[in-house]
Amino acid sequence: MFTDARSRRVVLVAHCLLNRNALSDGTADDPGTCRPALDVLLAADVGIIQLPCPELACLGLDRGDPAGADRPLLRENTRIRRELDRPDNSGRLADLADDVRSQVREYERHGFEIVGLVGVDRSPSCGAGSTTRDGRETPGPGVFTAALRQAMPRTLRDERCLGLHPAADDAPGLARFLERPADRHASCPSDGEPATHGGP
Ligand code: SF4
Repeated sequence: MFTDARSRRVVLVAHCLLNRNALSDGTADDPGTCRPALDVLLAADVGIIQLPCPELACLGLDRGDPAGADRPLLRENTRIRRELDRPDNSGRLADLADDVRSQVREYERHGFEIVGLVGVDRSPSCGAGSTTRDGRETPGPGVFTAALRQAMPRTLRDERCLGLHPAADDAPGLARFLERPADRHASCPSDGEPATHGGP
């Protein structure tokens, strides 16, 4: 079964890397997609599971405040995090994470490789290696990444979570992250540099 051309490898990718229109007002630097990341994803022959945008799902496209873009970024991120921490939104995030887990379970049940999760660092929601909390960028996951990891602790263990930082060129790190485990081992046997980062 499933011995056709498919790679039997899938990766969970933050929604806005494929759709910049979902970003909060004032934060999009590209018109459609994050092209450098998308180029790497396409070259890796890996299936892309586009995660839901938790802020869009819980707060709407304007994040519940049309003046949000007027605030300094980290202050606005902090406001958004506070909104997402409300019990009703926490429940919604848990439901979204459950939906993703159902998909992942199906792939795992049939022996597919879940490469991991590619998030967006500094995001209060989708950060993997860093997030925004209390007006600062700090290490740790965003609230949606945390919900996903709680729902799938083995699948999304530390080394399977990578955060792309909006202010950095993370394409080489993403390419290493997407390599098959055997290739990864062969291509960087002694560079002493972890191919991934992330996790609380
Ligand atoms: S980082 Fe997450 S919450 Fe923010 S726009 Fe992207 S998908 Fe949505």
